[in-house]
Amino acid sequence: MNAEIIAVGTELLLGQIANTNGQYLSKQLMGHGVNIYKHTVVGDNLPRIRQAIRIAAKENDIVILTGGLGPTEDDVTRNALAEEYGLNLVYDQQALDKVEAFFQSRNQAVSDANRRQALHTDGAHVFQNSAGLACGMVYKHEDAWFFLLPGPPHELETMVEEEVSPFLDAMNESRDFLLSRVLKFYGIGESALEARVHDLITQQTNPTIAPLAGQDEVTLRLTVKKTDRGEAIKKLDELESAVWERCGSFLYGYDDDTLFSRALDYLRSKGWTLAVAESLSGGLLGASFTDVPGASDVYAGGAMTYSNEAKEKQLHVKATTLQKHGAVSEACAKEMAEGVRKAFGTDTGVSLTGVAGPDPQEGHSPGTVFIGISYPDKTEVFKRHIRGDRPSIRRRAVKEACACMLE
Ligand code: ATP
Ligand code: MG
Repeated sequence: MNAEIIAVGTELLLGQIANTNGQYLSKQLMGHGVNIYKHTVVGDNLPRIRQAIRIAAKENDIVILTGGLGPTEDDVTRNALAEEYGLNLVYDQQALDKVEAFFQSRNQAVSDANRRQALHTDGAHVFQNSAGLACGMVYKHEDAWFFLLPGPPHELETMVEEEVSPFLDAMNESRDFLLSRVLKFYGIGESALEARVHDLITQQTNPTIAPLAGQDEVTLRLTVKKTDRGEAIKKLDELESAVWERCGSFLYGYDDDTLFSRALDYLRSKGWTLAVAESLSGGLLGASFTDVPGASDVYAGGAMTYSNEAKEKQLHVKATTLQKHGAVSEACAKEMAEGVRKAFGTDTGVSLTGVAGPDPQEGHSPGTVFIGISYPDKTEVFKRHIRGDRPSIRRRAVKEACACMLE
């Protein structure tokens, strides 16, 4: 089954908000074996929404609209569908009760505008909205299924999880579905990776393999189409082994993994805790670890020691080390990592010191970075030359620190 996603909202066209609902829906539908052929964005304008619906229905089995189900004048998605196919709009009693109860509990009168949120085209299957008031719906007209879903991301996501996903599963029974696995690589460029798996890309049709360059990283998406889940997983495993043979040493994770989550997983598997000491990255490494849900069992905290004085005071880096070798040095990285481990009482400590640029420092060119990793039994220091401007050097330095931990 193929689908088009139509995001409705003038604010999207004006660039005031990004179409994150489109991105979310694509990911979700992929998991239900729906191929997304097209994304469209259209303003809150009835004739243009009708036109978008008409075009999408010609080309797709499924048309998904998000936004424009609310109570305001500009919320016209339902009306557009109804007018396009000459359908009546009727109230869903459960949704209407919810709207009325909501306003009664606030001692406010319910307006007709608010009641409109409980409307759907006659004959539709209604999706209740447990996170808001506007109900969603799915309606089949001729060969096309039209899904109307709310715009506010939290309402959309709740409705998809609770109502739309089970509906799609039911639609899908006995059909082929798509299963994808994303392999994530670090330390190899897109073209180099593609060259290594070129034979697989050209030979494979099911499963398929598609490279995608991300920021500082590359991913390969393996996708298989099957009716049987077990068989689909087997096919993906086989292809993954073939990829592994060609570039396994650069593979660090899957799907939602990040270098930070993988580094934390590694430490967790050892039963170790972590503290970080940051100079050139100014807190970015710690922030990146705390982006990972559930980081707190491993990550204790960190010291942002930008000046030499802070390095001495907080981490007990020796004054003689700083005088003799400078802050951008193997010796300083070692003492920072050991110092932060001691200060926080953790099993491991990671330090970053270097030159973010644009100017050289202590005779080192921008991008010179020392990464110290202090383990319970030893401390290692890695020296790296990172290319890029100041933000790129800082961003890559923190990723490199994780890569060193995972080595
Ligand atoms: P409401 O009841 O809030 O009016 P609605 O279903 O009519 O809901 P819209 O009015 O289109 O939806 O959008 C409501 C808000 O939801 C927008 O202001 C925006 O913040 C968010 N939103 C809508 N569409 C998208 C989208 N495609 N991506 C991300 N956010 C969106
Ligand atoms: Mg609205």
